Amino acid sequence: MNIILLGPPGAGKGTQAARLVERHGMRQLSTGDMLRAAVAAQTPVGLEAKAIMDRGELVSDEIVSALIDAELAALAPGVGVIFDGYPRTAEQAVQLDAILAKHGRKLDRVIEIGVDEDELVHRIVGRYTCATCGEGYHDDFKQPKLLGTCDKCGGTTFKRRKDDNEETVRTRMVEYRAKTAPILPLYEARGIVSRVDGMAPIDAVSGAIETILAKA
Ligand code: AMP
Repeated sequence: MNIILLGPPGAGKGTQAARLVERHGMRQLSTGDMLRAAVAAQTPVGLEAKAIMDRGELVSDEIVSALIDAELAALAPGVGVIFDGYPRTAEQAVQLDAILAKHGRKLDRVIEIGVDEDELVHRIVGRYTCATCGEGYHDDFKQPKLLGTCDKCGGTTFKRRKDDNEETVRTRMVEYRAKTAPILPLYEARGIVSRVDGMAPIDAVSGAIETILAKA
C-alpha cells in the first residue's frame, strides 16, 4: 500500500508515519528528513536547500522529486510507502504519479490530517527529539519520564529543528495554504482522500488511520 499523509507543519505526519512503520513495516519517505540529512552532509543538494529551509520556503520540485525517485528505486517492490511531506505542490503531485508508475506502484490513499492552525505554532515551537534515536518530545505535552533522559534509548542529548521557530513556522503555514492545500481536490476527484482529526490525542489519530487503511 502506498499512502500520502497530508497536513500543515505540526499536524503529526511524522509521528503517525513512525507508528505505521512500526506496526506494518511500511517505509516512511520524508523529504524533510532527506533534505535535513543532505544539509548535515553538505551535499550539493543540501547546500542549495539550506537557506530555503531556514526561511520556511519550499525547495524546488525537481530536487525533492529526484530524492523520492531515488528512494523508490532502491526499495523492494513489496514494501508499502508512506509519503510524509511530499507532494507539497501541484507539480510534485504530477511528478509523483509519473514516479509511482515508473516503479510499478499506485497511490492507494491520501490521508489529510486536519488541525487548528492556531494550535500548530505552539505544537511546533515546543517540540524536540532525542539526538540518538529520534524519539519525539514536547516542552508542554510530552517530556521524558526522567527529565533529560530519553524514555526509549536512555540518550541524554536532544535537538530541535532550526526551522521550528515562530517566524519560520508562519512562513511554512503560508506555503502550505498557498501551494499544498490546493492539491487536495486533485486527489478528491479520484475518490481516495480520507480525513482524520489531527487535534485528537495521538492514539486516537492512529486508530482513525488504521480504520481507514483497513478499508482501503
Ligand atoms: P518538513 O520536515 O516536512 O516540515 O520539511 C522541512 C522543510 O524542508 C520545508 O519547510 C521545506 O523547506 C523543505 N521541504 C520538505 N519537503 C519538501 C517538499 N516536498 N517540497 C519542497 N520543500 C520541501
